[in-house]
Amino acid sequence: MIYEILKIIDENREFLKKMGWIVSDPYSFEWWGGLKSADEIAISAFLVQMTKWETVTKVIENLRRKGLNYIDKIAELPLPVLEDQIRSVNFYKTKARRLKNFSEIVSKNGGLKNFLTVENRDKILEIEGIGEETADSLLLFANNQLVFPQSEYLRRVLSRVLNKKMNKKEAKIYVEDNLKKDLFLYKLFHAGIVSIGKAFCYLNKPKCDKCILKPLCRNKYNETL
Ligand code: SF4
Repeated sequence: MIYEILKIIDENREFLKKMGWIVSDPYSFEWWGGLKSADEIAISAFLVQMTKWETVTKVIENLRRKGLNYIDKIAELPLPVLEDQIRSVNFYKTKARRLKNFSEIVSKNGGLKNFLTVENRDKILEIEGIGEETADSLLLFANNQLVFPQSEYLRRVLSRVLNKKMNKKEAKIYVEDNLKKDLFLYKLFHAGIVSIGKAFCYLNKPKCDKCILKPLCRNKYNETL
């Protein structure tokens, strides 16, 4: 079943693009909304919570223009200056504090490439503002580690398509056990599932009529899973 889902996702790359995912080569950073570096992905991961992606990209462009789109630069910025730079995102004070704290930890640990590793997953999860989905997404998209992101979208879409009740961890394990360990496939599958979850597979009243997985889904129009 997982490859049937993947095939439909692959056939709908334009839909993924509309949802902010750029299907690209396996090692590209572009997948993540067209951003240009691991640093920008990490910065955006802190800014995006409860904020529109368009607002986040404007902030990233502003940081880029000023040469501040680097984790080591952010680690050195005084907090009030960082707050000022990201003021247009919701909860900017909390996000500035968390982003600066993360940046300092990363800088002390040899940079994103050294720090964002599977071996450090527990350490990453101890950082304020980083939950399991963010940690796994950073590992996969900012440092090309073969980890499949755990998420509510994954739990909901897989539970419904397979008609099998799963928790988030079980859904992640299902993917890691069944999908070939391949960077491109992991990124494509995650981008597809998140897009389907956001566009169609709502917690209540899913839009099954419009969903690209409708032909496969074993639990259409049922909100209970
Ligand atoms: S068909 Fe409906 S229940 Fe199934 S994945 Fe799509 S939106 Fe969700």
